[in-house]
Amino acid sequence: MTEQIPLPERLVNEGLRNEAGIVEVRSDLAYLTTGIVNVAFIGYPKSDWVLVDAGLQGYGAKIVEAAESRFGSFATPRCILLTHGHFDHVGSLEFLLGHWENVPVFAHPHEVPFLNGTTSYSPPDARAGGGIMTLLSPLFPRKPIDVSSRLAEVPLQGEVPDLKDWQWLHTPGHTPGHISLWREHDRVLLAGDAFITTRQESAYHAVVQTAELHGPPRYFTPDWASAHQSVRMLADLEPYLAVTGHGKSVSGPELSVNLHLLADNFVSIAVPC
Ligand SMILES: [Zn+2]
Ligand SMILES: [Zn+2]
Repeated sequence: MTEQIPLPERLVNEGLRNEAGIVEVRSDLAYLTTGIVNVAFIGYPKSDWVLVDAGLQGYGAKIVEAAESRFGSFATPRCILLTHGHFDHVGSLEFLLGHWENVPVFAHPHEVPFLNGTTSYSPPDARAGGGIMTLLSPLFPRKPIDVSSRLAEVPLQGEVPDLKDWQWLHTPGHTPGHISLWREHDRVLLAGDAFITTRQESAYHAVVQTAELHGPPRYFTPDWASAHQSVRMLADLEPYLAVTGHGKSVSGPELSVNLHLLADNFVSIAVPC
């Protein structure tokens, strides 16, 4: 008999997209969707800022344009933080590093081999189920990029370079060095792909992005036990607002209710059969 999973609470999207394509979810936090992947801008308009992730390949100019619309002409980030090194999160990184000279890139030490040309990610699980994106996943790039000349490790104690209110949390499973970013005082979470708010396996959901919580993208998650622990840890933080790597931002008390639901039923909801 299949176990009955309680119905999720309806999730509320936060923020409206402006003409530059940016969704502002806090006065010092906004995100831009590059195709099917989000990048986040942390910082008040016209002040110092940090970019989180670098989106799909071919979106570098769009990211620069969006950044300049928010932070001013020639705006350059203090640094670029990577939640992880998958191709859809570092696709425009080399373009951006060419455009913004001397801007450093920070990642978790366990993610460094995938960013300095050393190690490829393990092959995707093309049997993970869920539709066309999974079937296409063997075609997705897995080879490491090499940005070693600009790459540094995030500080060990969890502090985030250039952002004193934020801390990084190690949330492995989707990748070995996956990190999420957390701001305690207003319970804001940038979760990368630790969990996402769209069914990434399906091309339809990846584009339409109806808000619902899901585990990490199935085809590219090799360590489900760690992925589960990471979702549990993030649920226990009881975030009020989450911006994830894929899908729309969500907020409200329903977020942590749904996140606990995902953590409690992780095997049946998230893990491929
Ligand atoms: Zn990923
Ligand atoms: Zn992703």
